[in-house]
Amino acid sequence: MKSLKENFQKAHIVIIGSGIIGKFNALELSELGFQVTIIDPTELQNSSYAALGLLMGNMYQKRRGRSWNLRKQSIELWPQWITFLQKFNSELNIEKPLIQLTTNEEKFKKLEKFIYENNDQNLRILEKDSLFIKNINKAFQTKTIKGMISFKDGRINPFSLLQTLDKYLKQKKINFSEEEIIKIRKSNNQWISTTRNNENIKSDFVILCNSLKAINLIDGISQKITLKPVLGQAMEINVNDAEVDLLSLPKQFNINGKNIIPKSKNKLIIGSTDEYSTKPEENTFEKLTNFLDKKPNWLMKGKISKKWYGIRSRPDGEPSPIMKNLEDGLIICTGFYKNGILLAPACSKWVANEIKNYFS
Ligand SMILES: Cc1cc2nc3c(=O)[nH]c(=O)nc-3n(C[C@H](O)[C@H](O)[C@H](O)COP(=O)(O)OP(=O)(O)OC[C@H]3O[C@@H](n4cnc5c(N)ncnc54)[C@H](O)[C@@H]3O)c2cc1C
Repeated sequence: MKSLKENFQKAHIVIIGSGIIGKFNALELSELGFQVTIIDPTELQNSSYAALGLLMGNMYQKRRGRSWNLRKQSIELWPQWITFLQKFNSELNIEKPLIQLTTNEEKFKKLEKFIYENNDQNLRILEKDSLFIKNINKAFQTKTIKGMISFKDGRINPFSLLQTLDKYLKQKKINFSEEEIIKIRKSNNQWISTTRNNENIKSDFVILCNSLKAINLIDGISQKITLKPVLGQAMEINVNDAEVDLLSLPKQFNINGKNIIPKSKNKLIIGSTDEYSTKPEENTFEKLTNFLDKKPNWLMKGKISKKWYGIRSRPDGEPSPIMKNLEDGLIICTGFYKNGILLAPACSKWVANEIKNYFS
């Protein structure tokens, strides 16, 4: 009898879309022995390249249900994948810990209750007198910031991650086609993906990882899938002020919902906005710095040195993400409105299990 791996080697899988979700699916499936082709015309402009890379898994406050299960699985899988991917880039790492802060007393009470009830050794409350909080309150010129620290959560540099995945895919000689798929159809038990240049690519499976555009390739109405664009802006600010040393702050933290990543003594990244549109609003600086009632002077005087955005897809009427076996050999893995980087390992595992089921 032939081994499963031998059967897998004969199956050809086309992945449409080469953001983090497409690339991670390619990694998982090619490690299982499948023949994989990824197709994407403009991968450098996707939302994965815009991401900040925070992995907010353990600090997620709902400890049951689908969202938590995906997070839990991803938190377990990430360290294993990092060890694997370090063979291709020894510097790839998850920078820990992650700190979540608030100036809202009610939200802080909820954090305390969450930590108390879950008795999770990887989470701890940061009181006013902790060194982290002292430095943050001093830098942001407030007295009211408090929060929690998660030792297992952190940040992975998305650019470095995507480049490492590219290196893996190249070394594994995974086919990559810089084309746009405009139509998919089934013929004689095979899927045919048609490119804008009228080339037909045959496969046994198609995985739709092309975010918002997935809807154009299926009948969204009969499948009852609706996706809305949500634009997220982020910026790098240059602070020309001796009164603050940004390196005295934690490596990554969140205050009242805004993620902050100090890059050097006088540079930090802040993200992101949630805009239900495909065109970035103009008041980026104001939208990204309004997380405190009163901004510190250095932040008020800060100048944007870089800004960027990405458009994510949010499922309408059902929770994010959408992972479904639509019909024989056609799988959709999209709707990563937030946390696509965090959830990539768990979602790819789900896709791989669906495909393995066809062979059992
Ligand atoms: C500013 C910002 C900050 C963020 N921060 C974080 C964070 O800290 N942590 C986190 O986990 N997540 C974060 N996210 C969310 C994360 O970026 C997304 O969840 C994730 O990138 C979604 O990945 P994706 O592969 O589904 O989509 P994308 O990266 O958008 O990739 C979709 C790809 O499909 C391709 N495509 C489209 N149509 C076709 C077609 N017809 N044929 C072939 N290819 C096609 C596109 O070219 C594109 O490359 C952030 C997002 C933004 C915008």
